[in-house]
Amino acid sequence: MVICPKCRKPIPAWKLLFLTNFKNFNTITCPTCSAKLRANKRINSLIGGIGGGIGGGLAGLLVILWFDAKEVVYLVLLIALFPFLFLASWLAMIKFTKLEALEY
Ligand SMILES: [Zn+2]
Repeated sequence: MVICPKCRKPIPAWKLLFLTNFKNFNTITCPTCSAKLRANKRINSLIGGIGGGIGGGLAGLLVILWFDAKEVVYLVLLIALFPFLFLASWLAMIKFTKLEALEY
């Protein structure tokens, strides 16, 4: 559960999907107190790095297996991997993201 650092109310998990590392899109607004919140950068890139690393490794492995065996099951696994990775990194974000309020 991700908590707003200002009002201590939970932030809906889907809102975390809008947290990116892009310059102008790295904040979300608390639905309770309207505070502008930013994810802890280090945790964010850590999750991105782990997700990207594991995803890239697994995808590469499946491509090699598929070329080797020509079994459709590997191709299906490869396609299934992406929504799974998406979900896994989202769950990791929910679990590990720490929000901080932006002060103006
Ligand atoms: Zn709040």
